[in-house]
Amino acid sequence: MRMSTVRYINGDKVEKIRVSDMTVSDYESIYKGKIYCPTPNCPAKAVYSGGEKAHFRTWQKKDHLQGCIHEFDRIPINRGIITENSIGVDISFKRRQNALREAFKLMTMTAEEKKEIEEKKLERNIKKKNPRTEGKTKNANVKNTLTGGDVREEEGGGMRGRNLSKRYVDTISNSDINDIRLVMGQLTEVELQNPCAKLTVEWNKKRIYVVFEEAFEKEPSNSAYLNNFGIIKKYLGKTDLVLFTGVGEIRRNRRTEELELVVYIGTDLSFNDSGMLHLR
Ligand SMILES: [Zn+2]
Repeated sequence: MRMSTVRYINGDKVEKIRVSDMTVSDYESIYKGKIYCPTPNCPAKAVYSGGEKAHFRTWQKKDHLQGCIHEFDRIPINRGIITENSIGVDISFKRRQNALREAFKLMTMTAEEKKEIEEKKLERNIKKKNPRTEGKTKNANVKNTLTGGDVREEEGGGMRGRNLSKRYVDTISNSDINDIRLVMGQLTEVELQNPCAKLTVEWNKKRIYVVFEEAFEKEPSNSAYLNNFGIIKKYLGKTDLVLFTGVGEIRRNRRTEELELVVYIGTDLSFNDSGMLHLR
């Protein structure tokens, strides 16, 4: 999914550029739109993503030369629903954070406040049924991804992923499986499995396990989370009610048949509206 070098094509000149040689300002002023997959003659355009874990990524999946090694390199999360004709759009950090905050608000609202919101929603939906705008925003080929998608919302030229659906643990259905969801429930158990943990989240006697896999461990931005899940265990031990909200991929474990929420990024977890590293 990531490339460490790209070809910079400027007229007849082709130059090999390493990610370590690239800077955001050079990219913006010189290279943007002119860098390609390192495979000779491969027409796939690349984009540069700066910051702590700077990398090059393919701009669009279909553009690779058939047989190019970078064609299949990219493992989008979620794999389950990416089809040949779909574009995976990584939901932006900001939208994920906003959704987590919203979900917590929803969980702590009074019945009255909820009713008010439902009424407003109804009003909005009636207004929405305008045939002129209907269908305009729908794009059946856009799939939500968390990392490794074809584009990221932040740099997708206005491309937006689908709505991030919220689910209480007891309302998760088969149609949510293999898709990205925001899950809400009460944290009831933390089983440390260093460097990560297995969390139990419940709602109305239904249960989901929050799990972390190799992809989580290998993600550079998660390094502060590794071997630190004791923070959650400690917090749960001294807090009566811990409301959990988290974004990840819903899965049914093939062996145990149990529901799992696979989380890929540490900041996609929230406990009583607080990120894990902010708990005290
Ligand atoms: Zn290629």
